[in-house]
Formats: sequence, structure tokens, C-alpha cells
Amino acid sequence: MTDVFEILQKDAAGRIGRLHTPHGVVETPTVMPVINPNINTIPSSEMHQFGAQILITNSYIISRKEELRKVALEKGLHHLLDFDGPIMTDSGSFQLSVYGDVEVTNEQIIAFQKNIGSDIAVPLDIPTPPDVSYKRAEDELETTLERVIAAREIVTDDMLLAGPLQGSTYPDLRVHSAKSLSKHSFDVYPIGAVVPLMESYRYADLVDVVISSKKGLDPAKPVHLFGAGHPMMFALAVAMGCDLFDSAAYALYAKAGRYITVDGTTHLEDLQYLPCNCPVCSAHTASEIKSSSNSKELLARHNLYVTFAEIRNIKQAIREGNLLELVEQRCRSHPSMLSALKRLYNYSPWLERLDPFSKSTFFYTGPESSKRPEIVRFEERIGRLNLDGKVLIRSRSLKGEGNYDHVLNFKPPFGAYPIELSEVYPFNAEIPDEMDPGAIGVALQNVIELINKNRNGLFYLNLPKQYTDHPLYGDLKKNAIPLDEMPNENL
Ligand SMILES: [Zn+2]
Repeated sequence: MTDVFEILQKDAAGRIGRLHTPHGVVETPTVMPVINPNINTIPSSEMHQFGAQILITNSYIISRKEELRKVALEKGLHHLLDFDGPIMTDSGSFQLSVYGDVEVTNEQIIAFQKNIGSDIAVPLDIPTPPDVSYKRAEDELETTLERVIAAREIVTDDMLLAGPLQGSTYPDLRVHSAKSLSKHSFDVYPIGAVVPLMESYRYADLVDVVISSKKGLDPAKPVHLFGAGHPMMFALAVAMGCDLFDSAAYALYAKAGRYITVDGTTHLEDLQYLPCNCPVCSAHTASEIKSSSNSKELLARHNLYVTFAEIRNIKQAIREGNLLELVEQRCRSHPSMLSALKRLYNYSPWLERLDPFSKSTFFYTGPESSKRPEIVRFEERIGRLNLDGKVLIRSRSLKGEGNYDHVLNFKPPFGAYPIELSEVYPFNAEIPDEMDPGAIGVALQNVIELINKNRNGLFYLNLPKQYTDHPLYGDLKKNAIPLDEMPNENL
């Protein structure tokens, strides 16, 4: 199938989309709860009440167990799981990565997924772990590409087919993987083998993997971050253009007594109070959950509620155009997440090309905000300003502004821009009264470059002390005249 995905709204590289499957339309971004057909922590039939629109299960496990296999083949996957919405099926690649071998071929597992009525099938790709030798990553990627492209030729009906992207931690292989599969028009592109990066908190490396994969893909195609199920990193991943996630975490964490929040994970044993309003946490105290005979199930339910609440938060942020503010908040929950935020903004020129031009209000939330795509766009645009005559750069309106040919407002982290744009996004930014030196430095540097590009202009400055105290102000003064150092008759 082609054109199964439509994009309704965008922010940064994130989007709200609609994925059309044989069992209905899924609004993305969303999480697919992982259903282990052997262990029923929460019945699939109840998944809708948490906000789940689509599930994911493992066709390899189903094919290997006679009683599951029989029901799935005779009555269908949806009957087996008792779920009437879309179901994606994995192929056994995960088992391949854990056990080194699986007793099924790519062709067999694709045919099986088709025969049980899967909505989205996955070929038997090779999940190459991070940091292997380049040679191994390259060889395994070639095998993956052969298998995945072979699967494309087999699947010709309305079942969607995923084209998993591999390439270990080598950005060029990730790009190659994405470009090669793009030629064959898959319906969903999972980014594979990233679980080891997340398990070891290597979120900055995850940013490299995701963005290099995205760079090789048509931006109109849906992307699944395979194995990502912790809500702490959803906003970051969505801002990079991931549309689908899958959570085994809700059940696995619960099994280990772990309570998920958007800031991380806490052991239930350490909680005296429950920082959540979900139906489980509203109806129980921490000690009631601890002493309950079904505490694991209660935890799993809470974990799912908090997972889907974050998805709703993210979708609302996309609607309001403040997804990056949400990302900046979430990335302050852990030093590794903060590293990931910094890495993300290294890609601001890429983000800038995907980011919608106009949004509501730019909220400055910390030094990292100075590297946002809006600042990159501003720096490019300000380079095109042509200024001659007398130019005033100030941060509040002054008497006698009519005597100047141009009046620019100064605001960190941007720099100086025509006052007519003050109420226009992103210059209507909300910034703190006390700016951090990094943001002031970015703005002063932008003004220095503006003056250097406009040698025919005569620049006057009127800036408050918190800006003039910055070391870069000395450089700025070399080519501009501070108003307090100038006799009045010059005006
Ligand atoms: Zn809760």
C-alpha cells in the first residue's frame, strides 16, 4: 500500500498524523502496548480504555506455540488477542538478536503474518547492536536490505509492511539504510536496534541514530522507534520525527516493582506518596499498592496511564506549537537527557527546515534554547537585512527614535531585529528578566555580525547593564556608539 499516512499538524520535526490500516485509522504519535501472547498482564480487550489505538505482538512467539498458532491461523490474530483495532506483528528479529538464531525464514514469517491477518508486518531483519565493527554493521545491513526488499515483493495486498532501518551506531550506514529502503516504498519505517542505547542512557547517541535515519527518509513517511517505551523520552523522539513507539516497559517495569513517571522511574518501595492522578493512583495509596496481592497489575496499569497521558501532552504541544519547550522540560530530568537535548540542537539547521514558520510564542527555558531552530532561522534572515544611515539598537523604546533611519530591538537570544517584528513569532518570545550569559552572548555576537555586514550604517546602542557587562559588549562597541558616551547634539 502507498499513501497510508497523512500529516495533520507539525512542530519541529514532530507531527500529528493519521495512519490508515486494514483495522482502522490510528492517530499518531502513539504507543503500541506490547502484548506477550503467553503472559496476559492486562487483557488486550481493555487496552482501549488506556488510550491504546493499536497493539503490537510477536508473530514468531505465536508461530512457535501450537495452541496459539492454531487459533491465530483458524480464527485470526484479532480473535486470538481479543482486540478489534489494528495490530502490528514483530517477526522474531528480537529473538534473533538475543539467541543468535531463529527457526524460521524471512519468507515463512512474512507469510505467517499475512495468514493470521496482521495489520503491519515486519520482515526478519538483523538488529545489529551499537558499537560493532563497521564491517559487521555493513555486512549485516546488506543482509537486512536483501530480506526487507524481498518481503516488499511478497506483500502485495492491503497489509502494511514495515521497512526496518539498521546500521548500528554508524550515521552513514543509517542514512544508506534509509535511502535504500525509501526506493521500495514501505508503509512504516522502524528504526531498529536502539534498545541497547536507551538501556545504557546513551540518549545523545540515540539522537544521532534517529536523525541520520530520518535524513535518508522521505519526511512524509511514518517512523517507528522500535523498542522505545519510556514516556520520559517520547517528546524528544517525537520532536525528531518519530511517530510510533512500542511499550513492553509498562509490564516489564511493573514486574520489577518500578513506577514510571515522565521524569524517570521510581521503585514502588521508595514511594510514600503517589505523584499521579490516574485511576489507579487516585483510588489507592502507595502502601495499599505495595501490600496489594495484585500490586504488579496495578503498577502496570499506572504505567500505561502515564504513558498515554504523555502522548496526549505531546499532541497538545504540537497543536500549540510549543513541542520544543516540552522537550526542554523533559530533558532536564536526567543528565543524559540534557546531553541529548544539546545533541538535538546540533542539528538545528536540519530541524529548521522541517519546523513550521510561524507558531504562537517562543518560551525561553534555559541556555539550550539559544540553539533552537528559530534562532538558526533568525541568523539566516538577519544576514539579509540591508541597513544604512543611522541605526538605533535598543531594548526599550526611547525618545527621539524618529531621528533614526532604522530602529532595531535587542532581545536575547536573538540579537537585533526591526521593531515592527516585535509582536511577531519568534520575537514575541517570553524571556526571563535575568538572562543567562550564554543567551546574551549569542545575541551580541549576532549584532556584531549584523554590523559587520552593514558597513554603510552608523550604529548607536542603548542597552541595559546586564547586557553591557557581558565580555562581548566590548567587541560590539568597537563598531558602534553607545548613546551614553555620545554628546546630545549628535542626534
Ligand atoms: Zn498513576
